Amino acid sequence: MHLTAHTPHSLRRVVVTGAAGFIGSHLCHALLEAGTTVISVDRRDPQHDPEAAAKLTEFTAFPNFIPLTADLLTCPLDPVLLDADVVFHLAGLPGVRPSWGPKFDAYVAANLQCAQRIMSAASRLRIQRVVLASSSSVYGATDGTPSSETDRPGPLSPYAVTKLAAEHLCLAHATRSDTTTSVIALRYFTVYGPRQRPDMLIHRALTAALRQTPLHLYGNGLQQRDFTYVDDVVRATILAAVTPTDSAVINVGAGHSTSISDVLDTAHRLTGRPVPVLRAGTRAGDVPATLADITRAHDLLGWKPEVSLTDGMEQQLHCLKEPG
Ligand code: NAD
Repeated sequence: MHLTAHTPHSLRRVVVTGAAGFIGSHLCHALLEAGTTVISVDRRDPQHDPEAAAKLTEFTAFPNFIPLTADLLTCPLDPVLLDADVVFHLAGLPGVRPSWGPKFDAYVAANLQCAQRIMSAASRLRIQRVVLASSSSVYGATDGTPSSETDRPGPLSPYAVTKLAAEHLCLAHATRSDTTTSVIALRYFTVYGPRQRPDMLIHRALTAALRQTPLHLYGNGLQQRDFTYVDDVVRATILAAVTPTDSAVINVGAGHSTSISDVLDTAHRLTGRPVPVLRAGTRAGDVPATLADITRAHDLLGWKPEVSLTDGMEQQLHCLKEPG
């Protein structure tokens, strides 16, 4: 099966956690447009958080949208998950560097404890599938060759450790003889596109070029990243929910990598302005390269990425210039 962004799918009613976030809001949009009833959960309250409001307000026009503001760590989950076909568990605390130090407990809570609560409720309610947002960071330092799901993970930051632990935890739940809930853990590789988190490189590069304010460049700029456009990620995420397959871990990446210097050059070319750079040191937990082997995503989900880095950055730039 090859599902395109516009192909209808069989999802009737789903829960999306982390819906006020970057990827979650795009996922909600695709599902709502396809007619799926979406119960969105996020602890960010659009009434008080302009960023969350910017992402969620447009969805209120959909009659099939049921937004909830709640903390997954404490809210009663059974009424939220009841009668859902699938839970897309995207809520989490992202970012490698801030995970060192005093925020560690917050990372464990958001990335691991919430996963435990989601899996317990999903199993209890016999939800068919949980799709978990995992991360390429679980691979740690690589030799630059493509990372395959069968490689031994080597997380190099507290963030990456919590994401790997959440994967293992959810998959452990799925192996219980008394559960009918399967789990697909998607290892997303650096996602970009409109509404990207402001701490991420492509957002910072495009805004630095537009505003002519300095971009703090960590490391020598030669680090390679596998950048994946958000629409491709959403398509893979929906396929992971509807494809009949056993529980699995699956990479979601472009399958090729680009250096940070090349991203800055593309930002220059697209904006017509150079990116002013302020060199900063390297940061603990940053890996030299990420690159996905996407054979499994193709074989199991029939998925392959469709959007080039230049086209995707152009879309992101367009939305930065004309928000909303
Ligand atoms: P984001 O920060 O934009 O969105 C995450 C959302 O989760 C936020 O809106 C936040 O409020 C919500 N959340 C966190 N803890 C919660 C809780 N306890 N209760 C309710 N809501 C809670 O992040 P994103 O970039 O959209 O990433 C989404 C997921 O994908 C995360 O799990 C992240 O680890 C994973 N991921 C992202 C990338 C990427 O490149 N953006 C790469 C790999 C993995």
